[in-house]
Amino acid sequence: MAKFQRRTSSNILLKTALENFYDAAEEMKLDKGLIEVLCRPERAVKVAVPVQMDNGTVKVFDGYRVQHSTACGPSKGGIRFHPCVDLDECEALAMLMTWKCSLAGIPYGGGKGGISVDPNTLSKNERERMTRTFAARISKVIGEWDDIPAPDVATGGQEMVWILDTVSKLHGRFEPAMLTGKPVSYWGSEGRTSATGLGVYTCVKEVLEAGGDTFKDSKIIIQGFGNVGMNNALFLHNSGAKIVGISDITGGYYCENGIDVPAAVRYAQENNKLLEGYDQLGLVKMSNEDILTQECLVLCPCALEGVINENNAKLIKAKYIVEGANGPTTPEADKILDKRGIHIVPDFLANSGGVIGSYFEWAQNLAGYFWTEDEYNQRLIQIMEANFKRVFKYAIAHNTTMRRAAFCVAIERVADNLKLRGFFL
Ligand code: GLU
Repeated sequence: MAKFQRRTSSNILLKTALENFYDAAEEMKLDKGLIEVLCRPERAVKVAVPVQMDNGTVKVFDGYRVQHSTACGPSKGGIRFHPCVDLDECEALAMLMTWKCSLAGIPYGGGKGGISVDPNTLSKNERERMTRTFAARISKVIGEWDDIPAPDVATGGQEMVWILDTVSKLHGRFEPAMLTGKPVSYWGSEGRTSATGLGVYTCVKEVLEAGGDTFKDSKIIIQGFGNVGMNNALFLHNSGAKIVGISDITGGYYCENGIDVPAAVRYAQENNKLLEGYDQLGLVKMSNEDILTQECLVLCPCALEGVINENNAKLIKAKYIVEGANGPTTPEADKILDKRGIHIVPDFLANSGGVIGSYFEWAQNLAGYFWTEDEYNQRLIQIMEANFKRVFKYAIAHNTTMRRAAFCVAIERVADNLKLRGFFL
């Protein structure tokens, strides 16, 4: 294949996203023209977001919405409020959403957006004004058949309602399907809160089955006890798995005989969402670093990016890693773990339950007909199982890792649709 100039970036997220894409595309012998199309976003919008602060002064924040690809359908992806948000970060995350949606088999491309701001410095009124101004300024590029945002870092149901209200008024039409992750009481969906955790759990179940291991008494460590980690832990516990370790920002909590997960969840819910002070018979408190390297069959990193890196990859004792978080394993660690024969279920497969759940919400909104939580969960499990099996089969057939296989399967679908549709618009 003719060599081409690879794009790169000083932003680590974008650099990694591009490298992963190019490596997989080269292995698949993807057409050079398609590589050139897919290595950049279709559209990147930058807006100024002026906000009248409570004290009468005006502050201007930078806001972004990037649409990487609409080859498979309207772009889809979260909106985050964080000081590190910039165009490169949104570009990287939008590209990842393209692969995530494609792999999930749902009818979307990838998007991402956000505002460069520390949301903790804003009052509720300032936050509302900022969100509504941002919404108004990206209103021309979002919509139920164009680009469908959702919550991401530091945004939630309230922000989705403010955006929906603002943009519907500007569009002159109420379009609830324009956003997902809305509160259940206002066009949201039963099941959405635990969707990502249910998806991670399903991947754990599948990888154990594929590896000839069983759930019963398997030792599992879950790093991160937020929405994803907590729900994953509950589903696993209820299925008979033994959760020997959990952790959050207050440290690691290890118990050889198994953590009493429902008790830990209750404790965290009553203590500001934190595990600090949680205790049970046989519990050993340890550092966040140490919990990752304890003896276990499955390790589920469900918190931040980069926690498994070149410093600790050789110390990990798990046979399987199921990535609930986005990017918990650095590319350097990935290589070490692969050499050591540790199997990784990659993030954009393992945590795709969230966006599949968003697809369910969108479909219900368009139909104006709501499903029960049971219907939602059963359909989610079915899709996750099928997706896992598809990636696993590809990895075996091509003698490659699940991460590389997931990229190839995802890129293939987008490329096929691009070939069908062309890229006129
Ligand atoms: N923020 C989540 C993600 O990036 C959800 C996106 C969505 O549901 O559109 O995967």
